[in-house]
Amino acid sequence: MVDKDHGVPTMYHDWPRGASFWLFLFSVDQDLAQSAREKRCSCGGRLHHADYPRKPRGAEDLPQEYRYRFSFCCERDGCRKRVTPPSVRFLGRKVYLFAVVVLVSAMRQGPSPRRVHELSQLFGADRRTIARWQVLWREQVPQTPFWRIARARLPAPAETLPRSLLEAFLGGDDPCQCWGLLLRFLSPITITGGLPSAFS
Ligand SMILES: [Zn+2]
Repeated sequence: MVDKDHGVPTMYHDWPRGASFWLFLFSVDQDLAQSAREKRCSCGGRLHHADYPRKPRGAEDLPQEYRYRFSFCCERDGCRKRVTPPSVRFLGRKVYLFAVVVLVSAMRQGPSPRRVHELSQLFGADRRTIARWQVLWREQVPQTPFWRIARARLPAPAETLPRSLLEAFLGGDDPCQCWGLLLRFLSPITITGGLPSAFS
């Protein structure tokens, strides 16, 4: 398919559709969860799985594993603290897949933004949802601790988020890997407190 985006010809063209992409992201989430589990609870207790049920939207061919987001609970009575590791699949409680939130928001930006109608047809998100995602990137993400650190590594103005991130990360030979790196870079905003509370 010919992409009409000026400057970022690979943005949608290289969107890695299909189950293998979603399974790949699942494996990244497994690594992130394993790291969190090995660190244990802040009280020293071991962490047990207490995963959150999910019904994600935005893609077909989603593996069964996408019915849950990894989360843990401390085993110690009197603590029972919950620990939810960062994710490359789920952004807080949003029902749409994290990658779809990033891609659709980026496609609304730039010199020739894709129309909302077209994006709705491609991904199923309605006008109000897409508008909320734009507010998220424009007003909320720039205020996060994540962005205060990330901006030093990525000299892009906050107004260009998330399109500037796609320009920085995509374009390699393997779109799956590129998307994996991008989502992993952004994963600090997916944990509790990663975004201002109204958007988590
Ligand atoms: Zn604990």
